[in-house]
Amino acid sequence: MTENRKPPKTNTATPVMSSNSAQLFEILNQMEQGIVAWSPDGVCRLHNDRIFRVLELNTCDLRVGMSREQFLKISVSYGVISQAKMDEVQGNFKSGQPFHFDRNMPSGRVVSSFARPLMDGGYVVTFTDVTQFRRDAADLDKAKKAAEAAETKALALLAKEQAWRSEGKLLAQLDEWLQSCKSLDELFEVVRRFMPSLLPCTDGELYLYSNSRDVLDGSCTWGEAKTHDHIAPDSCWALRRGRGYHYDASGAGLECQHMLDAADGIPEIENAICVPIVAHGDTVGLLHVVYPAQMERRRVLEANEFALQCGEHISLAIANVKLRDELHDQSTRGPLTRLYNRRYFLEALRSDGVMAARKDESFALLAFDADKFKSFNDNHGHDAGDMVLRAISDKMLDMFAKGETPCRFGGEEFSVLVPKADTARGLVIAEKLRAAVEEVQVRYGAGELPRVTISIGVASYPADGTMPQDLIKAADKALYAAKAAGRNCVRAAADVEGKCC
Ligand code: GH3
Ligand code: MG
Ligand code: MG
Repeated sequence: MTENRKPPKTNTATPVMSSNSAQLFEILNQMEQGIVAWSPDGVCRLHNDRIFRVLELNTCDLRVGMSREQFLKISVSYGVISQAKMDEVQGNFKSGQPFHFDRNMPSGRVVSSFARPLMDGGYVVTFTDVTQFRRDAADLDKAKKAAEAAETKALALLAKEQAWRSEGKLLAQLDEWLQSCKSLDELFEVVRRFMPSLLPCTDGELYLYSNSRDVLDGSCTWGEAKTHDHIAPDSCWALRRGRGYHYDASGAGLECQHMLDAADGIPEIENAICVPIVAHGDTVGLLHVVYPAQMERRRVLEANEFALQCGEHISLAIANVKLRDELHDQSTRGPLTRLYNRRYFLEALRSDGVMAARKDESFALLAFDADKFKSFNDNHGHDAGDMVLRAISDKMLDMFAKGETPCRFGGEEFSVLVPKADTARGLVIAEKLRAAVEEVQVRYGAGELPRVTISIGVASYPADGTMPQDLIKAADKALYAAKAAGRNCVRAAADVEGKCC
């Protein structure tokens, strides 16, 4: 209400009225709203006293007989409505339709005006103070928005916690499987099967350093990823920098060479992470994870954290398997030649026997011994003899796969188990081995050592025996026969007179 305007004292605009009209007027004045009725030509026919209070007007600002234009101009002069609003309102009165508009009073109150047409073309307008209602509505809206925001936040936190929990659960499962792996092959299988559920929709590869450490060998993949057989250590920024590297095509990130190679020189990868696999302080490999093209940045960053954790778990498991392999190797292989030892060989002989019996198959046992090795040692020294034994062992490792169990039985005596071979096949293989050893040349100091030959005895299961000790005896007899026949030759137990079994 403007300061110089005074609240109305009397209804100066009240027309001379009957008792019914006086009653009606009394009722109109008791109402909370201000009311004015306009004639079809826009002249005030009637108003109540409340209108002065609601519209913050002086009593002289409205009276019966006053034109609507004059009344609206007063509102414009008080700054309650604009001239444009007044023109719009006047236009609305001509429409013959109900309409509504708000007046923002200088005092800060909001008054809602509802105009309804009368039968004769006039209008009745009510003015309602909706300030508190609007404030309540605004407060309610604000409270609703705050509640919604709090709910959204709580849901996000809950989702995050659930995600953490399920990630933790998945990692624990992965760990349990990884820790049960007895070989790297088993470990690769676990990685291949678990990674799609740990990092859904991703493609990935696991590389491990080769024994020579000059390249990393592609060990396993998941998703659509195609592994390279080998990648160079310096083709990856993560390996060069010794920490996880997030490649982001939309940023200034440099792609790793192994990524470029994968796409024939055209990098289609948008986001990827390379995680060095570090076991006991040694980098042993690389985990490479490629994210789907449409993945949100926020989710990529979350997945990066998880990929790093997966890398740690895989690293630990690889370290364990390698340690187990080393211990197993130390207990089953000799330190000089890396061939299996006698204990391992005897176990393999027993289990091959069981397997062959079950499948009704044969297998051959080759026993051989270096010829005149004592005098070789005497002539060239024990070290030179060791070098020759190592060269013979290398030849055996070249010729025989793991399942064929090449073994150093002791001293300069060796043996090999050849699965699914009878005596005839064993003789062919033995002859090949004899000829190969005969060709071995060993450099020693400035010169070359004289070539060493071997004599081989061949026995086979079940022809020469079904028990391990019988087969060993049969092969030994054949070996002695080869020695007796002049050395550097092969003999079969079946051809030896006075077979032991
Ligand atoms: P033969 O042809 O009858 O087998 O004659 P040989 O001299 O080889 O006789 P024998 O097999 O009995 O001799 C084994 C020799 O092998 C004795 C030993 O000096 C040598 N020897 C055994 N183990 C090793 C080893 O680890 N290193 C070296 N350098 N020599 C070994
Ligand atoms: Mg010997
Ligand atoms: Mg010998």
